[in-house]
Formats: sequence, C-alpha cells, structure tokens
Amino acid sequence: MLRRILSENGRDYIGTYAFAITCLVAISMSTAFLAWILKDIVDEAFARQRADVIWWITAGIFAAFVVRGAATYGQAVALAQIGNNIVARYQRRLFSHLMELGVGYLGETRSAQLAARIGQNASGIRDVLNLTVTSLAKDLLTLVALVGVMFYQDWVLTLAVFLVGPPVVVALRYISKRLRAVTREAVLVNSRVYGVMQETMQGIAIVKAFTMEDQLRHKVDYLVSDAEARSNRIVRLTERTGPLTDSLAGLAVAGILAYAASQTINSNELPGALVSFIGALLFAYDPARRLAKLQVNMERAIVNARMIYEVLDIVPHQPDAPGAKAIEISGGEIRFEHVSFGYAETSPVLHDVSFVAEAGKTTALVGPSGAGKTTIVNLLPRFYDLPEGRILIDGQDIGKVTKHSLRAGIAYVSQHPYLFEGTIRDNIRYGRPDASDAEVEEAARLAFAHDFILEQPEGYETPIGEGGSTLSGGQRQRLSIARALIRNAPILLLDEATSALDTESEVLVQKALDEAMSGRTVLVIAHRLSTIARADRIVVMMRGKVTEQGTHAELAAMDGGIYARFLKLQALGLDGSEDLGLERKPAVSEVDNG
Ligand code: ADP
Repeated sequence: MLRRILSENGRDYIGTYAFAITCLVAISMSTAFLAWILKDIVDEAFARQRADVIWWITAGIFAAFVVRGAATYGQAVALAQIGNNIVARYQRRLFSHLMELGVGYLGETRSAQLAARIGQNASGIRDVLNLTVTSLAKDLLTLVALVGVMFYQDWVLTLAVFLVGPPVVVALRYISKRLRAVTREAVLVNSRVYGVMQETMQGIAIVKAFTMEDQLRHKVDYLVSDAEARSNRIVRLTERTGPLTDSLAGLAVAGILAYAASQTINSNELPGALVSFIGALLFAYDPARRLAKLQVNMERAIVNARMIYEVLDIVPHQPDAPGAKAIEISGGEIRFEHVSFGYAETSPVLHDVSFVAEAGKTTALVGPSGAGKTTIVNLLPRFYDLPEGRILIDGQDIGKVTKHSLRAGIAYVSQHPYLFEGTIRDNIRYGRPDASDAEVEEAARLAFAHDFILEQPEGYETPIGEGGSTLSGGQRQRLSIARALIRNAPILLLDEATSALDTESEVLVQKALDEAMSGRTVLVIAHRLSTIARADRIVVMMRGKVTEQGTHAELAAMDGGIYARFLKLQALGLDGSEDLGLERKPAVSEVDNG
C-alpha cells in the first residue's frame, strides 16, 4: 500500500519533500547538539568555572533553538501543504472515477454513505505519507543523532538501554493487529450515521408525514452509540502504547540515574558526560515513543487508504470497444434486434425484444408496471451492456461507438425532474455547456419556463434548492424539458410523469413536451392515453416481451390483442388502464367532485 501511494504521488512532491527533509535534518541536528553541549556546560562552565567558554556555549544554545524553531515551522508548513494537496487530489480523482462507474454500481450503493466514507478516507492517504515522512525523517534522524551522542558519552550504558526494545516491539505488534479491524468497522459505522442523516434531510417531507422521527432517532441513536464506542476502543488501543513505553522508559532513566550518581560519588570523574548522556536519553524519548507508535497510527491511516483504493480500483465495466468511433446520427432511427437482457445474470428482464422507432417519429412504449419499459430506455444510452442482440441507431451498433458521442445524441426527460445545485441558468445549461445565455433563454421560452423564471427573485440567477424544492412540480418538469431542448439532440427519451399536476401546469408541460418532441425521434414511456393516441407507433410490452406493435389503427384492428381489448373496455366505459400501465381514467363522480 505504501509503495503504491508513494509511486502514485511521491514524484510530484520531490522538491517540497526535499525541503521538508532538510528542515527535519536541521531539527535533529540541533536537538543532538543541545544534548551534546550539556557535557561542556557541566564540566567547563560549572565544574571548571571557565568564564571564557560560557559565551560560546550560550551563543551556541541560542543559535540551536533559533534553527530548530525555523526548521520546525518550515517542515510543518511544507508537509501540511503536501497533505492538503493530496486530499484535494484524491477527492478530484474519486469524483471523476465515481462518474465513470456504471449506473449499476451506483444504483446498488447508498450514495450518502459512499460520500461520507470518501470524506473520511481521503485523509488516510495524506496521513500515510505524512506519518512516513515525519516519523522516518524527523524522529529516526533525531533518534540516530541522539544515540550517537549517547554512544560517544558512554557506550556501555547505551547498550543497556537497548534491552527494553524487544518487549515493546512485541506488544505493539499485538495492538496494531487489533486496531486494523476496529478502524475499518468504525469508518463504516460513521458513514452509516452520516448516510442516515443525509437521507433524512433529503426525505424530510416523508419523514414528517409518516411521523418517522422517533424511529429514525432510535436508529441514529443506536448508530451513534456504536460509533462512539468504537472510537473509544480505537483510542484505548492506540493510547495503550503510552503506559507501556512510559513505564519502560521510567525504568531505564531511573536505573541510569542511580548508576550515574553512584559513579560520580565513587570516582573523581566530572559528571558532564553522564549529564549529557541522560539529556540525550530524555530528548530521545519523544521521538522513540512516536516511532513506537508509528505502526499503530499507520495501521489506521492504511485502513483508510485501502478503502479509498477499493473504490478507485473498481474497473468501470463498460469501456468503449477498442477503436470505437463517434456515432453519426442523422435521422435517429432506433432499431432493437433480438435484445435479451437482465440486471443480474440469473433473472432475465427482456426476452428477444425487437422493434423499430422510426426516425423523426414518436414511438410509445406501453405495458404494465415491471414489463421492462424503463429497462429499454436505460439500454439506449448504454447504461448497461447487452449480453445478446443489438441496438442500432441509424444502422450503427451502439456497442461499437464511443459512449460519449452516443449520449451526446440523446436527450432525456425523466419522470422525476432532477435539478442540481446551482442557478436556474446552470441547470438548463447542463444540457449543453457551451450554450450562450440567449440560447438558454430561448430554450426556456420554448419550454414555457421563461415567464415563471422571470418571476423568481433573481430570475435566471435564482439558486435552486435541493431537488428544486422552491419550485412547483410542473415548473421543475418544464426546466428539465428546457434542459433537454437546449441539448438539441436528434433522439429524445421521455419517461412520462405519472404524478398529477394541476390542469394549468399540465397544459404547459404538455405544450413544452410537444415542442421538445417535434422533429425528433422520440421513445416515450407512455402513461397517458392522449400520448398513445398521438404516437406514430405503439409498442406493447408484457413481462419483458414485445407482444404487439404497430399504429393505433393496426393494433385496434388486431383480434384478441391487448390494445384492442383495452379500447373495447374504454368504449364500454370500463377501465382497463392497468393492463397497459396507463393512469386510471378518473371515474365520472371523481371529476364532479373536482
Ligand atoms: P417498467 O418500466 O415497465 O415498469 P422496468 O424496466 O422498470 O419495468 O423493470 C423490469 C424488471 O426489471 C422488473 O422486474 C424490475 O424488478 C427489474 N429491474 C428494474 N431495474 C432493476 C435494477 N436496477 N436491478 C435489478 N432489477 C431491476
């Protein structure tokens, strides 16, 4: 993991790292110097009372502190900048990667949790790199320099100190292994907490309407306690290194002091060397403790880094075919040839579907819920790849062209108009980013949206609330139609809204749709009788199969056909809408009631 992170990022930061490491070397050298000079302070200044060297010693100490301060500042800023840059870089990388992933993957994953997880994980990579650099360069260098001073002053004692090493290593191994599992669980629990919170905010109307508050509170309560407990466990495990290393260090320092005291009492040697030795030992303690904890801290960072790479390593499963060319759409004829498809291999959804949607005409897909109409519409922009059969647009197999060119030729108006963060103008312009302001307004006019947009507080620059909640359903639909219009694509996929709008909006939405449909090849999932009646061609679907297709007249004349039966029921004043997945025709009494 470390090697991968370094090879992907290290090169870009070599200069900054070199600077940071220079600073770190300066820090370790000045620290070692302070320990080393202790001998002269004791022996020359105090024991021998040489006034002439005091100036040199004090000037040296002052200089060492100044160097250490400046170097500490330099390395901290340099490393933090690299760290922030790494977080930013991985956030960008993840976002583009997520957009590359198939609709299938994102459909199966809870997006709020994924976002929360990424937020937590991105810092993992930064921590891995910074921990490596700070610990290895700063702490290790400082430790080596100080051990050098210790050896120089008293090598026998130095060897004695090293006896405490092995038990510490064994204990740390054990702790870091347990930490690995706990950290992963903690990240997942935390992302569930954020996920539930975010989904609650998004669905706040449903939450309140169904008085789900208490249930959600319980759920979040439980998750939060779980997350809290896990965080506490992580802290206990991580900090367990403290008492361990502290006790052992105390033992070593106390032992050495006892030895040193008896040495000076029983001999005539000046105590300078021993004071310097103890100074070095005390200075060495902090970096040694951090190094001991390195593996433990690293374990947490690596768990996060690994989770990031789990997402980054998902291969987008529909790469363009090698040598794929841009599709050239002239009329926009859509032809399904023996298409079979299932979301999971075990449960086929479409069986041998063949039909043609003629260029420039409107083809209505009808059939009961679950018949596979949406699936057909999803296959056209190649959200999923086909295991069997072909889909051709103007005679070109969509599996053999670039996805980007294919999607550029398609505009889509969904049942639930989805609006994004930004202004009204931004939302229309998502249809075609290079559209001019005049074109945006022209599209809004054609979609009968211009007037209500001007009534908004800031007109086209009015920011849109999440999901467009400050706009009415009909207004949102007209904005999404304007977005499709400005795309000016030869093919329009339309999933007709089933939710009832008030009559006035209804009329405006319908007019906007008529505008969007004219002159294009339209594939519409029809939920209204009026839409079918005006379609040039009707494709009836049942349980993943096309059961009948043709013009209204052809289907009406078809003996024993579902469509013909539906028309007969209608003529008798009976309701057969469900067979075709249409909205139920309101009964006369309901109309009377308004
Ligand atoms: P319709 O639009 O006619 O109501 P759909 O195309 O949405 O029908 O669904 C057809 C079948 O495919 C249904 O049985 C549905 O359960 C299944 N299905 C739809 N979307 C998915 C999906 N993302 N993953 C798995 N199965 C799905």
